[in-house]
Amino acid sequence: MFHRSVRLLLVAFVFGLLVVPITADDHTRTDLLATGDPYDAIRFDDRDPGVPTPRNILGHDIGERFTRHAEMIGYLRVLADASDRVHMHQYGRSVQGRPLVTLTITSPENHARLPRILERNAELTTGERNAADRARSLARDSQPALVWFSFGVHGNEGSNMETAIQLAYILAAARGERIDGLLRDLVLVIDPSLNPDGQMRYVTWFQNIMGSEPNAHRWAAERSEPWPGGRSNHYLFDLNRDWSWLVQPESLARLRHYRAYRPQVHVDFHEQGADSPHFFGEGDTPYNLNIPISTREWLAKYTEDLSRAFDEFGLLYSTRERFDYLYPGYGKVTPVYHGAMSVLNEQAGHSRGGLAIEVEPGYTLTLAERIRNQLIVAITYLETTQRFRAEQLERFASFFREAVTDENSEIYFIARDNDPALLAKVWTLAEVHGFRIETLDRPISSGAVLSYQTGEPIDNHTLPAGTWVIRSAQPMGFFIKTLFEREPEIEDPDTYDITAWSLPVVFGLDAWYAKRSIPTLSTSPLAEWTRPTGSIEGDGRVAIMVPSTQYHFPHALGLAAHHALHSRLAGDAIEMPDGVVVPPGSLIVHTQRNDADAVRAFERDLVSAGLTARRLARGISTTGPVLGANANRRFVHPRIAIVRDRPTSSLDFGATWHLFDVEQRIDHTIVLADQLGRLDLDQFNVLIIPNCWGSIGAVFDDRIVERLDAWVRSGGTLVGVGSAGAWASGRILRIDGSSSDDDESSDKEERPVASALTFEERRARSVEDRIPGALLQVRPDTTHPIMFGAPEWLGAVVRSGRTLPVRDNGFVLARYADQPRLAGVLSDRNASRLANQPAMTLHRHSGGVVICIADEVATRGFTHAAQRLLLNAATLGPSMTSRHQPLGDEID
Ligand SMILES: [Zn+2]
Repeated sequence: MFHRSVRLLLVAFVFGLLVVPITADDHTRTDLLATGDPYDAIRFDDRDPGVPTPRNILGHDIGERFTRHAEMIGYLRVLADASDRVHMHQYGRSVQGRPLVTLTITSPENHARLPRILERNAELTTGERNAADRARSLARDSQPALVWFSFGVHGNEGSNMETAIQLAYILAAARGERIDGLLRDLVLVIDPSLNPDGQMRYVTWFQNIMGSEPNAHRWAAERSEPWPGGRSNHYLFDLNRDWSWLVQPESLARLRHYRAYRPQVHVDFHEQGADSPHFFGEGDTPYNLNIPISTREWLAKYTEDLSRAFDEFGLLYSTRERFDYLYPGYGKVTPVYHGAMSVLNEQAGHSRGGLAIEVEPGYTLTLAERIRNQLIVAITYLETTQRFRAEQLERFASFFREAVTDENSEIYFIARDNDPALLAKVWTLAEVHGFRIETLDRPISSGAVLSYQTGEPIDNHTLPAGTWVIRSAQPMGFFIKTLFEREPEIEDPDTYDITAWSLPVVFGLDAWYAKRSIPTLSTSPLAEWTRPTGSIEGDGRVAIMVPSTQYHFPHALGLAAHHALHSRLAGDAIEMPDGVVVPPGSLIVHTQRNDADAVRAFERDLVSAGLTARRLARGISTTGPVLGANANRRFVHPRIAIVRDRPTSSLDFGATWHLFDVEQRIDHTIVLADQLGRLDLDQFNVLIIPNCWGSIGAVFDDRIVERLDAWVRSGGTLVGVGSAGAWASGRILRIDGSSSDDDESSDKEERPVASALTFEERRARSVEDRIPGALLQVRPDTTHPIMFGAPEWLGAVVRSGRTLPVRDNGFVLARYADQPRLAGVLSDRNASRLANQPAMTLHRHSGGVVICIADEVATRGFTHAAQRLLLNAATLGPSMTSRHQPLGDEID
């Protein structure tokens, strides 16, 4: 019945047909127009008919249905060919190979001098004393302001890419003084789809589920996207948490391109729930205090202009709430550190919005209306920036000057002998984000140098010449400080995302920092650095030894399994007669026991992965077990299955998948959760269940529990992470006592019952109990063979506050430190609750083992230290099972 009206509404909003009465159902919309027609303000009704419209090329009006990514690329190509205002540039490809493009839109005159414009823009980023003067003089000399619009980092927020298409068309086709002025004063870059793979996942699903007409019913099937949804990219990463870390190729390519422009204004277009108002402008506390106050003041100015525009249309909106500026990896935050007045915009709609949704009786929110609202925002940001062009250029230049002269600057030191794979990650971040690394000219020993572990000075510690030095007193300093400082200062603990991420800690680097200047510091710029290539040293013929202390050691184990090499794991530190030291847990491949071709292929793969190994000439040792000793346990090749789909958390499954598929490249098979009752588990000896959302028991019923139980007993290694770890403890091992942050029974101190508290006290208690994501110190038991190669301590981003139960005969492979908090929001109550508690356990279960990890460890692909816990569990677990080690019971 309302199908027909929905169809009409879909095109009406964008194309200005709203003056036509629609249906009686839609009275709220027609009321909106009673005050006149403000829509020309965004439609620019005088348009060049020679510019092809989306309908000309796509066959549909924007808003009528979802546009597929390839169709969008096709239309933008035509538009760029037809218009001398529009240039298209491909800056990369998504994981699945879709082109990542931007449109640069400005006057033909500005296009002709674009290299010069960008060169002058870059002059404002040097942080020099006269930068603000230079900005003023450039502004007088008609230097345009640069604006960048990012659309669709979340692929299932349907109006974003559509808005980009319509906006590009309008800006290409519009005629008159107003558009001429905008194109003269601004250079706009539109990234129409930051996450094409997610967009296509959503659109393909939606097109498959909708009928001949969209159905606006709140309970229509087209409301409920199946797992994992289109929000994330191919590896199910939330790209809106990856702008700083650049783990995913979309982020890396985008930031390189973004840096070539460095806009004064950046707008990140999103959608939130269909029942929400439109959100724009100022966010909520906590702000990262490294963001200069001037940026916040500008957010307020733009918010004022946007509120006027929305009031003119009589639209509901919100601002100054919910969305914080603390975590550096958001799309609204990273650009701030690159000098932009960067801001979030959230239209109502999202995945559930579909093409139309009846939000309340009589009001149907259509895709077309969502696009219309986004256009209001886009045009307002352009016009406000045009009005404040000179001020924005000056603010931009002053931002970098402020960073260079920051009174609270810090210095970071990174040991040169850190693993080259990790140094390479730091180097890439520096290169792409544009910050400077130096090296120490001569050793220093200073009381100003502090430990990341304790925050305290280190006695008699000398940093050798060649140590990497990163000073925050440089143009990108606010970003550097945000990434490298031990702990962000947090003005308000009530927040929803992680509150600590200190790069040197989460990467597991040997590193130090200083909060004040060091007079004796003498440094030189490190202009070039290339990662050392992998190598196989020595020419011994007895065995190849791969040291376990390397970052890519799990990959080496994967290679040994891949090439089916008989090998052993060093049971202790071994010193060889030629002085070579074999760290505990290192891989020993006996040459003579293995096929020569397989050994050669193994060596070649080691080298190309950047690993170092050594050919050993003797089987006898000076100290520690000789190579053939039983103490060096047989390495049982892992045959790994990783569970995906409900009930796993798509983000945590994605991080795990990426870890095994890309980061460490270890052979594995992805299996579906709902097939665990059927698939032949004996094909695998390791099963990883990533952290789950919601009820695990709803999917893993009694029959699956029985199967897993039997499979473990017959020699399997079950690895449960996060809530799956707690589930495995309870359901497979049948031990009670996993506790979490909302578990009242674990209280050590008396607290009044919740009902005795006022509403406000209850809120305060929930903030106290919650761990939004803190950096906690975890101490692996490095004497346990499965933890060989792990560091003495590491920093893990903990969100659940869960601890694991352990039986008397179980092993605690890692526990939270006595003082667990390294950084971030963690109440004293939670700190004392977690102190010394198990973070990772191992239990023998008849012939197999169950390994539980209390919290996600591969978070967002940047927690390189903590992910080792999961990697060791998966690669070494089978070697710990009694079934495969008939020689003894040495781990018991
Ligand atoms: Zn979003």
